[in-house]
Amino acid sequence: MSRPVPRPYLANAQITKAVLDRHKFTIQKKYGQNFLIAPSVPEEIICAAGITRDDFVLEIGPGIGTMTQYLGANAREVTAVEIDRMLIPVLEDTLQGYHNVEVINEDILKVDIRKLAQEKNQGCPIKVVANLPYYITTPIIMSLMESHVPIESITVMVQKEVADRMQSGPGSKDYGALSLAVQYFARPEIVAEVPPNCFLPQPKVGSAVVRLTGYAGPRVMVRDEALLFRLIRASFNQRRKTLVNGLKNSPELPFSKDEIEAAVAAIGKPLAVRGETLTLEEFAALADLLSER
Ligand code: SAM
Repeated sequence: MSRPVPRPYLANAQITKAVLDRHKFTIQKKYGQNFLIAPSVPEEIICAAGITRDDFVLEIGPGIGTMTQYLGANAREVTAVEIDRMLIPVLEDTLQGYHNVEVINEDILKVDIRKLAQEKNQGCPIKVVANLPYYITTPIIMSLMESHVPIESITVMVQKEVADRMQSGPGSKDYGALSLAVQYFARPEIVAEVPPNCFLPQPKVGSAVVRLTGYAGPRVMVRDEALLFRLIRASFNQRRKTLVNGLKNSPELPFSKDEIEAAVAAIGKPLAVRGETLTLEEFAALADLLSER
């Protein structure tokens, strides 16, 4: 029998301020620190992520442990990765009694998540939960997706505008490399909108919780996945250029103008087409044609 864990108590402005004062902790803007102070938000995240006693959960950026307490109370086991070493003594304090939680002081981009999933979940798909620092949202999501770590779902708090980008499709002003990367691996769904007053300090912009549910395999078949992502990045790096010019000017791509024009024509698009109008399937077809050259 596992021991019962305490009830979460941190999602509250007075308690959060008291914890920060007790530890003489100074909020670090460079790490995007905005701590949750509204209990409804972690409750919604637990519900949206469908966290049960069967789950191993990776939490990115536990902060003072607000979401972590809810995860500890609901999951089988939690690993929380926090970059700021000044938060480690705070977490030792706030996570007392949460015996199923392990804290790692590291940059999430340097953690071998595949190894972690192997050790903690026998290599089975894991759930990831995070209230992400806004400055590093896209690199974290992209690296989780592109690393092919077995992931069942990622439930993240992000800037509302980033949540919109994840969900949008061709023709929308929000459509970009992040939309395509996310939609290649997962089905994105905004599950809650969160106003600035749910955080301490308050961010300048609204936030949203997005659940990314991983597909069993990628949504489209493509021969060279790395090439697909290079094409996508090149197309959106120079958004106002035509697709042909965007791909031709990219230092990441070795193709001549003639080769690019032939591939664009072969997918049935005019040579003046812009990348932002292509679907994921069309980018995959283009990648397959160019990989043959
Ligand atoms: N989860 C807490 C909450 O909801 O109250 C804190 C969220 S705060 C927006 C983001 C947290 O991520 C901070 O604690 C910050 O120090 C941490 N962080 C920032 N960059 C990180 C990185 N590269 N790897 C791990 N943690 C990071």
